[in-house]
Amino acid sequence: MLSRPSPDGTTETRGPMLPGLMQDDFQLTLQYVLRRMRSFPDDGQVVTLTDEGTTRASHGQVVERVDRLARALSTLGVKRGERVGTFAWNSQRHFECYFAIPCVGAVLHTINLRLFPEQIAYVINHAEDRIVFIDDSLAPALAPLAPALEHVEHFVVMGDGPTGDLPRVLRYEELLEAAGPGEAEYPQLDEREASALCYTSGTTGNPKGVLYSHRSTTLHSAAVLMSGSLAIGSEDSLLLVVPMFHVNAWGLPYAAALSGATLIMPGRHLGAESLAKLIESERATAMACVPTLYADLLRHADAHKPDLRSLKCAISGGAAMPRALAQAFEERHGVSLLQAWGMTETSPLCTVARAPAGASGEEEWAIRTTQGRPVPFVELRLVDDAGEQVAWDGSSTGEIEVRGPWIASGYYKEDVLEKFDAGWLRTGDIAHVDPAGWVSITDRSKDVIKSGGEWISSVELENQLMSHPAVREAAVIAAPNERWSERPLACVVVEDGAQVSAAELVEYLRGRVAKWWLPEEFAFVTEVPKTSVGKFDKRRLRAALADGQLEGRTRVAD
Ligand code: AMP
Repeated sequence: MLSRPSPDGTTETRGPMLPGLMQDDFQLTLQYVLRRMRSFPDDGQVVTLTDEGTTRASHGQVVERVDRLARALSTLGVKRGERVGTFAWNSQRHFECYFAIPCVGAVLHTINLRLFPEQIAYVINHAEDRIVFIDDSLAPALAPLAPALEHVEHFVVMGDGPTGDLPRVLRYEELLEAAGPGEAEYPQLDEREASALCYTSGTTGNPKGVLYSHRSTTLHSAAVLMSGSLAIGSEDSLLLVVPMFHVNAWGLPYAAALSGATLIMPGRHLGAESLAKLIESERATAMACVPTLYADLLRHADAHKPDLRSLKCAISGGAAMPRALAQAFEERHGVSLLQAWGMTETSPLCTVARAPAGASGEEEWAIRTTQGRPVPFVELRLVDDAGEQVAWDGSSTGEIEVRGPWIASGYYKEDVLEKFDAGWLRTGDIAHVDPAGWVSITDRSKDVIKSGGEWISSVELENQLMSHPAVREAAVIAAPNERWSERPLACVVVEDGAQVSAAELVEYLRGRVAKWWLPEEFAFVTEVPKTSVGKFDKRRLRAALADGQLEGRTRVAD
């Protein structure tokens, strides 16, 4: 009999079960993925663009270094379940950490370089990282935080560059050298144990940790490879632009290892010119990044006409893919963008907008500009405010809820019960779904702004603005922006009798929030509309913006 409510919604068992006679104890762990690379050492490569040039290693050579790193981790006393941080760009060394750390039974904690310093300190302390692997180029950024990092005993520096004031430094290559050659001994792991930890971008309150398991990661990798999904295969050379500190780079490094695909790592060289050169010189067949970077690449390609036609598939996720962008790429450069949707809590792959064979013209574009259909093993439903399921009729909207083997069931050391609904994850994304299962996101239930693939907290901006003596109310909403996809637009009510200009408010915010959060546009309104319980009603502000009815708009001169 079932001892607890079934996560798949079934309720009843009828008598004792007849067990299947298959090798169900075979553990779906990253050790298997490592073994696969060991078995097929020449299938794929890892190519990294460094400041000095391009490095190249076969999967077999990478595995030899993973073995060394695994031994080095044991020498450093890394224990089962211990979190080990990485603070690094996309590179071969980071890829080696992706395997050695989970394969010795520890947890790979990828730290988002773009968080605020205090959030970086928060996540390292919350995860209790004792060892942090860090790129030499990033040492100066982390050095000032070192005194606040309660648990860190060693910073393992990847690269030979100077490390400034960073204390307690060990050098990655010296550790590998000392570890010696030969296959490492790996401990027996349970597929359900934790393999990696990634914190959400922290839009409200502190970032929350999503703790992936070996099983979830392995199954997710297999789903990435499916033909109706991202369909990465051994023939592919995948330019990995999405950062390895963000949702395991959408799971693509593990998928590439599993399939024998080549990975092209741009390091910190994320400008359009570098990316275009890499595509041309490495004949990349696939790439993955947010729409903002595709927009940069398009501008560069229009001006300089690099040959991008080797790209069979350009995966776009993290924010809505503008149709104009996808069309321009296709018509002017022969590159087809493929939209996918997911989130940190979902590993991330949930839906992919791959048009079925035979679809063409307007019908094809209509499908490709949805967020896609759920990939196999991801179940998706829409739920309205009353908790009722919403029909897949192509127009009724509701919050997307998902469940499946790579969807989070909770946060690390945190109770956030409102995100979970009896075995389903509440995504916070509002959508409608058509009868064939194509999902279209229309809104977010949370009022955050995503600029260039990164969150801007509207609440934080509002609080700062409302701390100005001349501001009575401030509500910040997302304004569509061609380059960044969204930028903050601050709707401000000025105190009676007071006066303040947009430029003065920007000056006031400078230093209080990150520079890239500073709004370029303000709307001086007479009042912020309120909901029935007196909260700011940002939906109405957004509607006014969309209808061109938002009063008092003014742009801040550059
Ligand atoms: P994160 O957890 O930082 O990866 O952010 C996940 C959120 O990004 C989702 O909940 C969506 O709001 C948004 N997002 C991701 N992919 C897409 C997409 N293809 N279209 C629209 N929004 C997206």
